[in-house]
Amino acid sequence: MTKPVVSVVKSDGAYKSLKEALELCGGLEGFNKKDKILIKPNLVGYDFDYPLPFGMITTSAVISALVRILAEEGFSNLTIGEAPLMFPKTVGRQMYRTLGYERLKERYGVELVDFNEEKFIPVNFGHFELELAQRVLEADKIINVPVLKTHNQCKISLGIKNLKGCLNRKSKQFCHGKEMEFDLDRTFNNIIDKLPVALTIIDGVFVLPRGPAANGYAYRKNLIIASRDTYACDLVGSEIMDYKIEDVPHLRHYAERHGRSKNLADVEVRGESVEKHRKYVEYDFEWLPDDSGPKGFAKRGISGLMVHKWDSSLCTGCSILYNPMLVTLMAAFTGRPFPGIEVITGKRMQASPGFETTVLFGRCPTESNKDNPHIKRAVKIKGCPPDLNELSTAMAGIGVNIDLNQVDSFKKYMYNKTVAQEGFDMGLYEIN
Ligand code: SF4
Repeated sequence: MTKPVVSVVKSDGAYKSLKEALELCGGLEGFNKKDKILIKPNLVGYDFDYPLPFGMITTSAVISALVRILAEEGFSNLTIGEAPLMFPKTVGRQMYRTLGYERLKERYGVELVDFNEEKFIPVNFGHFELELAQRVLEADKIINVPVLKTHNQCKISLGIKNLKGCLNRKSKQFCHGKEMEFDLDRTFNNIIDKLPVALTIIDGVFVLPRGPAANGYAYRKNLIIASRDTYACDLVGSEIMDYKIEDVPHLRHYAERHGRSKNLADVEVRGESVEKHRKYVEYDFEWLPDDSGPKGFAKRGISGLMVHKWDSSLCTGCSILYNPMLVTLMAAFTGRPFPGIEVITGKRMQASPGFETTVLFGRCPTESNKDNPHIKRAVKIKGCPPDLNELSTAMAGIGVNIDLNQVDSFKKYMYNKTVAQEGFDMGLYEIN
């Protein structure tokens, strides 16, 4: 049986390296000049005040190089599409402007689409249904361009995971199901089955620990990984971050469903060797053994407060608020124990007995704990996603002063520390 081919190329200028990676894996074989090509980068979101796109979103340099190569090869029906997170509105257009994508429209006539502004079509996956962007369903070929990053819920986020950005908000939330049958790792890996993904290019200019958002410090990896086989591309990307398929449940489910080998030896790697670049990348923060909070709580001597580790039913709208919540709670610690507070998040967690106050962070825990007999006094932050201002006001009511300026200070600290490093060039996220 022929092995799927994956190219691994040292990134030395996006255009040159990408061209080499595509040649090595025969990336454009099977494409027809008249094909309607949809390019799907990872543009999950963007902090316009303290931008830390490194390893979190696809570099504009790689997307620009890809479009140039396609145009030179005679492909002219090109669209770039993504459904970024909504806070509460979509930011696709703003991201395209900030990241220089408008140049691609001017130079090559590329259409820029924010899926959130367009139609989604229900697609049946057997035991559940998801709504996919009409654009991706109508494409002749999809070129999937994720980044090389980890994910604090599903361990790694590469090609198969990047396609979750083709769903509307409701379906993205559905993928973080309460029931294990609809657990994150069991749902989104099905999306690719319905899409004409013809080429996957992992942008490994940076690698991001503790992703998917910028909660860890990215570093330069300088790799491009490409294949016409998305699963094989993900397998190689996982191995480079030192994860086995067996340890990454969504890829394991995919492999088992399709009878695919989980073994790197069953992939033909062309270019750089995996071993040369293999280095473990942490996917998560360490939590205290009693599940009362991150390790930082113990270091600061925090007591009287229990913030459980999130589970996979927490969807992205809430998960990106976790860090700001922790930062403000740690800053609110005055040296005296907190007054017996438990924080409940996501769809599965249930309040425990013995706490004076239970903070129900978001619509989901508010609904799933409405009849919980363990709750003495509930602080309900009902939004979806919840509002940190509301949390601040509610916490003041129980004598905990949360200063939301701490979120900005923390972001500023991370930003300054990151951009001071060599090779952290914002020019990689511009197109001139
Ligand atoms: S409350 Fe949070 S976890 Fe629940 S659906 Fe909304 S964003 Fe997701």
